[in-house]
Amino acid sequence: MNQPRTTTEFDIIRRYFSALTPSRDDVDVGIGDDAALLQVPRGMGLAVSIDTLVAGVHFFPDVSPESLGHKALAVNLSDLAAMGAEPAWATLALTLSQVDESWIAAFSQGFAALARRYGVQLVGGDTTLGPMSITVQIQGFVPTGEGLRRNGARVGDDIFVTGSLGEAALALSRLQKGLSELPDAGLLKARLERPQPRVEAGIALRGMASSAIDLSDGLLADLGHILESSGVGARLELAEIPLSRAVATALHAADDWSLAVAGGDDYELCFTLPAERRAQVSELARRLDLPMTRIGCIEETPGLRCFDAAGGQWMPTRYGYQHFSANG
Ligand code: ADP
Ligand code: MG
Repeated sequence: MNQPRTTTEFDIIRRYFSALTPSRDDVDVGIGDDAALLQVPRGMGLAVSIDTLVAGVHFFPDVSPESLGHKALAVNLSDLAAMGAEPAWATLALTLSQVDESWIAAFSQGFAALARRYGVQLVGGDTTLGPMSITVQIQGFVPTGEGLRRNGARVGDDIFVTGSLGEAALALSRLQKGLSELPDAGLLKARLERPQPRVEAGIALRGMASSAIDLSDGLLADLGHILESSGVGARLELAEIPLSRAVATALHAADDWSLAVAGGDDYELCFTLPAERRAQVSELARRLDLPMTRIGCIEETPGLRCFDAAGGQWMPTRYGYQHFSANG
């Protein structure tokens, strides 16, 4: 008996991934051989990061595949941004529970649109059947010695964040409660499902910021990593944290700052720099048309202390808790 003709792994790769993204001059061999062969420019270090999205853990299995393709690459680009690196290449390990070509086509288009925006070439990957998960590894360049690190924050530095916080967390909590019909649902959902990595900001902050991190687990937890790595503490002015109207309303209704500072999935940058460079930050924010807001300052006493507009200290109730100290 003849075997029925089925779509193979190689058909999928050829149809949807081989010519998906821009061709770069620094790629000698891309998709199609046992390994990619790539050239790192002289004077540059290679920045490498990897992130996995698991169905049911990091995304709803019925999420738009086009958005998922975007997000799988976006969360990786956000890590490169936090290092001040310029994106170059990506690899993609795709584990699918079934071969659904319209799903794969939409996923690849979401991935490709963002890859094109940053000139990223998909140079390899792996395609398997199994419980659905998506792993992207990203590679980029940063001039040797100029990468932004978590360990450079100094006492007296200002703390800044890009954009606004808490919208993705608000979108997630509403989706979980089935509240998708509210008027601003579309905007909030876009913040959750289609984060915009702050690549240009990260590159511009090279040689300017003393430390940087991208916000994936919530401000408290992620700023906590900077404080720990740098061996310092911080004072946070809750009232200065940039919030959209929807988040401000939800936060006041719940009388809890957690949404803005412990929600996760923001994919904004948090960075520190000496107070003398405040004007440079304003200039950069204007040039990139991206808000950059001072939310606190680095202090000597370890731990993170949060104050509201009235000067009262607020004790966080969730996430990043271990980074907190009650004294000070
Ligand atoms: P091997 O068996 O040598 O590991 P594969 O059969 O897994 O190679 O893959 C064939 C080629 O297709 C390789 O160049 C690999 O990098 C690429 N590839 C496989 N899956 C993907 C994918 N999802 N996205 C991009 N490239 C892929
Ligand atoms: Mg393989």
